[in-house]
Amino acid sequence: MLVDKSRCVGCGNCVPLCPMGAISIGPDKRADINQDECVECGVCERVLRKEGLSPTPIRLIRKFLTLLHLRYMPPLDVCPTNALVKPELEWPRILRREFSDPLEKHSTTGMGGRGTEEIKTNDVTGRLQEGEVGFVVELGRPGIGARFWEIERMAMALAKLGVTFQKGNPLTYLMSDPSTGKLKEEVLNEKVLSAIIELKTTMDKIPEVLQTIQQVEKEITTVVSVGIASKCRPDGSVPHEEWVQKAGFSLSINGKTNLGFGRATNVAG
Ligand code: SF4
Ligand code: SF4
Repeated sequence: MLVDKSRCVGCGNCVPLCPMGAISIGPDKRADINQDECVECGVCERVLRKEGLSPTPIRLIRKFLTLLHLRYMPPLDVCPTNALVKPELEWPRILRREFSDPLEKHSTTGMGGRGTEEIKTNDVTGRLQEGEVGFVVELGRPGIGARFWEIERMAMALAKLGVTFQKGNPLTYLMSDPSTGKLKEEVLNEKVLSAIIELKTTMDKIPEVLQTIQQVEKEITTVVSVGIASKCRPDGSVPHEEWVQKAGFSLSINGKTNLGFGRATNVAG
């Protein structure tokens, strides 16, 4: 995101909206956006109403009020002078927007949001078959984000266990070699709000996968959330549960039930 300094009146309304804390009011009394931290999520520009006022009279009013020890305060939900500018982005910076702005579609998968159908669509997509287990390893959250070099470090460690990365996931498209988890060199310093590595493997690998995630998590600066899924048995029991417990972990009781009303598109996996 950019600030048109010729229009910004430094009201500060955009500052608290940024989930990355990338906006501040600089010494020139205009908004400044730290371009290295901005993940191009679009929140600041999208949330604030645009009043379209002329900056010159507003600056004059501000100066006058300052003399009286008063402040010019526009309503909190507006950028009074339309000073936030959503720029055209080029590769690889465009990845920030694709991964962080839920209204943007991923150029690789054509989907918005996470850019993937995710494991919860398994009833219709058949990603997981009996005996297989799927992992979603999410790196980053609002407030901290994640760099692709951190995602690469996780992916490369997991690849060494012989896992299979999900093909229809935008991160897999960024891998120069999906057998090693290596990402394209030019994307490594790009930062996103969060991204999900999706993989599948066999049940017996669950302990190794969890231990590897725990190890890599100590080597990176962002936060990691892990989801695990497998096809329920006919009696409703969950096959991966005992493996997770054997590995010394417990499953969260937070569950999500997705009812499969869709039509199976990939029964063979
Ligand atoms: S809301 Fe608009 S005018 Fe106010 S500081 Fe931010 S960019 Fe500048
Ligand atoms: S686009 Fe998002 S990350 Fe960038 S400055 Fe605006 S709110 Fe912050």
